[in-house]
Amino acid sequence: MQAGTTIFEHMSGLARAHDAINLGQGFPDFGWPAEVLAAGATAITTGYNQYPPMRGLPELRRAVADFYRRRQGLAVTPEQVIVTSGATEALAASIMAVAGTGDEVILFAPAYDAYAPLVRRAGAQPVWVDLQPPDWQASAEAIAAAITPATRALVINTPHNPTGGIASPAMLAAIASLARAHDLTIISDEVWEEVIIGAAPHISPFSLAPERTIKIGSAGKLLALTGWKVGWVVAEPALAERVAQVHQFLTFTTPPPLQVAVATGLDLPDAWYDAGRARFVVARDRLAAALTTGGWVLLPTAGSYFLMADLAASGIGLGDHDFCEAAVAQAGVAAIPLCAFMPNAAQTRFIRLCFAKSDAVLDAGAERLNAARRQFGT
Ligand code: PMP
Ligand code: GLN
Repeated sequence: MQAGTTIFEHMSGLARAHDAINLGQGFPDFGWPAEVLAAGATAITTGYNQYPPMRGLPELRRAVADFYRRRQGLAVTPEQVIVTSGATEALAASIMAVAGTGDEVILFAPAYDAYAPLVRRAGAQPVWVDLQPPDWQASAEAIAAAITPATRALVINTPHNPTGGIASPAMLAAIASLARAHDLTIISDEVWEEVIIGAAPHISPFSLAPERTIKIGSAGKLLALTGWKVGWVVAEPALAERVAQVHQFLTFTTPPPLQVAVATGLDLPDAWYDAGRARFVVARDRLAAALTTGGWVLLPTAGSYFLMADLAASGIGLGDHDFCEAAVAQAGVAAIPLCAFMPNAAQTRFIRLCFAKSDAVLDAGAERLNAARRQFGT
C-alpha cells in the first residue's frame, strides 16, 4: 500500500483499476430515501446556501435529539447536539477536546483506521486493549490494566467496524464505572447504531454515563448517504462546549442544504428504519449463504454491514493483506484486510466484506470470492 493512503482509498482504487466487484470500502448501493434527496435539492434552491450556525441548523439539532429520544430512549436536548462534517470530524473534535500532549487515550484493537492517527495528531498516545474473538469483547480487568494517571479518554465503537461485534452490557458497564472512577471521557462512536443484524440490541454508553460520554452519529450510515459527510456529537453542555471550541476551527460548519435534508431523514417513521434493518439482514444472509456454500468459514455479525471471513479456516494459507491484493488483481473482487485496523499492521487471517449491496453485486462478489478460494486455497 502507498504510504499515507487509507486502506479504503487504496482498495477502491484497485477495484476501479481492475474493474472488480467492490466488497471492500463500506458504502451501500441501495437504501437512500427519495424524500431526503428531494429535501436536499429543494433546500439548495430555496436559500439554504450561506453559513449556518456553528453548532448546526436548529432543524437538524432538534431532529437528532428527537431521533435519539424516539429510537434509543435517551434524554437528549437540541442544545446538546453539535453538527459536524461527518463522524470523522466529530471524532477529531472530540479527541482534540479531551486529550493533548503527554495524555493517553485507550483504543480497542481492532480499531477503525482513523482513531490512532487522530489521537497522535492531538499529541496524545494510543494505549491498546485487545478485543477477544469470537464476540470481540474486552474484560474489565484488561481495560483497568490499561489505565494510567495520563489516561484522559476511551474510544469505543459499538456496533463495531470491522468485526461486526456489539459491546456487551458487561463491557459497557465496566467502561462506565472505570470512566467514573478515573474521571475519563467516553468517546462513543455509534455510527452503526441502526445497522443491527443479530438479536443483541444497541446500547449507547450515553445511557450509562451521560455526564461523561460524547456520543457520535453519522447520517452517512443512518440514511445510506456516505458521501454527504453529515455527522454530530451529543454531549452534556460543558462537554459539548469543549467539543464546539475545537469544531469552530476545524470546519466551523457543515453544508446547510444537507443538514435540512438529513433532518427530514431523521424524522422518517420507525417503519422506514425497521425496514432498512430487515433489508441488511437479508443481504447478509444472501452473501453468507453463497460464501458458505463455496467453502468459506465466516464469523457471526451482530451489527454493521460487514462480515468477516477466516482465511485459514477456509483453507487459504495467505495472510489477509496478500490475499486482498491477489484477489482484487487476479479474481476481480475487493475486500479489506483486518490488519489495516490493527496497531502493528502484521498480517492476520481475517478479511472484511461489505454486504450493503444489491443482489446482483452480492452474487457476483460471492462467485469471485469462491473462485479466489479455489485459486489461492491449499
Ligand atoms: N466511525 C466508524 C466506525 C466508521 O465505520 C465510519 C465510516 N464507515 C466513520 C466513523 C466515519 O463516518 P463519516 O463518513 O460520517 O465521517
Ligand atoms: N468507513 C468506511 C469503511 O469502513 C470507509 C470510510 C473511508 O473510506 N474512509 O469502509
